[in-house]
Amino acid sequence: MTARGQIDIDAIKAQLDLVEVVRNYVPSLKKQGREWKGLCPFHAEDSASFHVIPRKGYVHCFGCGAHEDVVGFIRRITGCTFVEACEQLTGQKFAAAREGVRRADPAPLAGTWVPLIAVPESAPDLMASNGWTVPIWNPKSGKLRAMKPARKDEYRDADGRLLGYVLRADITDRETGKVKKWTPTVTWCVGPDGKRQWCLQHFLEPRPLCGLDDLAARPDAPVLIVEGEKCRAAGAGAWAQYVVLCWPGGSNGIGKVDWSPLKGRDVTLWPDADDAGVKAMLGWSNDAGDCRPGVASYAHRAGARSIRLIDTEGRPKGWDIADSLDVDGWTPRQLAAWAAERVVDVTVMRG
Ligand SMILES: [Zn+2]
Repeated sequence: MTARGQIDIDAIKAQLDLVEVVRNYVPSLKKQGREWKGLCPFHAEDSASFHVIPRKGYVHCFGCGAHEDVVGFIRRITGCTFVEACEQLTGQKFAAAREGVRRADPAPLAGTWVPLIAVPESAPDLMASNGWTVPIWNPKSGKLRAMKPARKDEYRDADGRLLGYVLRADITDRETGKVKKWTPTVTWCVGPDGKRQWCLQHFLEPRPLCGLDDLAARPDAPVLIVEGEKCRAAGAGAWAQYVVLCWPGGSNGIGKVDWSPLKGRDVTLWPDADDAGVKAMLGWSNDAGDCRPGVASYAHRAGARSIRLIDTEGRPKGWDIADSLDVDGWTPRQLAAWAAERVVDVTVMRG
């Protein structure tokens, strides 16, 4: 960094080995003559068209056209800013320059991105081969961002057509250093100019439940509703007699979901073992007459045949069906035996 608080980009580039930097993200990289070649991290492909050209100081993909120098490569693959990329590459802090860049940031682009009702076969895979997503457009920030999610859960309609994904990534807050759970919805969208790409964009409302294909395939099976995709996967694996469903968007999203597929079903709700979990399932009201319906109310309105609840009171705070299997090490048989003792009828709140 110079005395004026500027980042000397040429000095940074001169210190770095481009191949070493890229190799951290492109393990398939192999030497070929004076260049290096590997699977592109920015688009899904089976044969390598991503070139690293050290003597020229850039990477180039002949498949998707990605063309970046070392800082651009880091920005694009991590979704970070220019200054952050320089900090990551050098291990130095450029706080003064960061201020300047923040002020110079353009306003977020406005633009309407609308999810297509089902993802067409022609859409590229969301995931690259290295555990990272392809770059995803964030309409709010007007930036592309790739991420390495810890989970990726598919949402499909009753006919099995892919509607989109809910990802789960653990994000470290730059200011506080705290790790936060982030569960963005990713859908295949069409933009204002007709362009199509993966976007950080919610499903159209009313939003789909997760597990609709399984529900449609088993019209007589009882339904278990849990909170979150992780619990849905755990429940579906352990409790085969149920169709296990969850909904997108957390407790604030309950009213935006299409609950009508629950018509005629026997529904059992498994709340997370805390106040928020029970409120999500049963709704709440206060003396002032404020109320918010929970999943039980929506299931009732949708015409569910019966609605029951597994009473998780007394379990550790926040405990859920995934914890019973992963943390407590219960077998599916133990899980079923415990739950059978805890099933209670639900009085549906009028909302
Ligand atoms: Zn590419």
